[in-house]
Amino acid sequence: MSMVVIATNNKNKVREFKSIINNPNIEFKTLSEIGYTEDIIEDGNSFIENALIKARKVSKDLGVIAIADDSGLEVRALNWAPGIYSARYAGTHNDEDNNALLIKNLKGVKDRYARYACAIAVCYPNGDELTEIAYCEGEIIDERRGTNGFGYDPYFYVEKFGKTLAEVSLDEKNTISHRSKALKQIKERINEDFSIIR
Ligand code: IMP
Repeated sequence: MSMVVIATNNKNKVREFKSIINNPNIEFKTLSEIGYTEDIIEDGNSFIENALIKARKVSKDLGVIAIADDSGLEVRALNWAPGIYSARYAGTHNDEDNNALLIKNLKGVKDRYARYACAIAVCYPNGDELTEIAYCEGEIIDERRGTNGFGYDPYFYVEKFGKTLAEVSLDEKNTISHRSKALKQIKERINEDFSIIR
C-alpha cells in the first residue's frame, strides 16, 4: 500500500480525487489528516506552476508522493481573466462579489466564451514531476441560474446541457468538468503503485 498526500483540505476535491483515481493500492491522506499546517504561497504565473508549487512543497517537506490541483475561470473577452486570480477576482474571496464583478465587466460584450481550467501536479520524493491540464468550455450568461455547484457555476452555461453548471447534478458536472478530465489524464500516466508510466 502506497501513501499519496492530496495537497488540499477542500473536502469536495478530496472526494473527487479519490473517486476518479479509484486505486485500492493507494491510501490517500489530506493535509489535515497528516497534521500539515504550513502555509503554501501560490505565487506562480499559471495554473500548472501553482499546482506544482503545492505538490512540490508537500512532497519535499514530508518525503511523500503529493498531488495538487489549481483551477480557475478564463474569459476570452476579458483577455482570459480572472485566470489564476479566480478565487479573489473582486478582492474579497467571496463568490457573489466575484460574480458581480464578472457580469459588470462583461456588460454589453458579445463574445461570451469562457472556460474553466484545471491543472494537476504529482511530485515524487526523487524529484520526478508529472503535470496535466484540462478545460471545460461554456459561456457566461447575464442572469444567474441554479443553486448547485459553487463559484462561477450559476453563470457558466454549457450548450450540451442547455443549462448552467449550477443547474446540473454533481455527477453530470463531472462528466465534463475540467477537474475530472485532468484527473483522468493523470490517471492514464500512473501505474497501480502510483509510479510514472514511462
Ligand atoms: P482553487 O483551484 O481551489 O484555487 O479554485 C480557484 C477558483 O476558481 C475557485 O474559487 C472558483 O472561483 C473558480 N473555480 C474553479 N473551479 C470551479 C468550478 O468547477 N466551478 C466554479 N468555480 C470554479
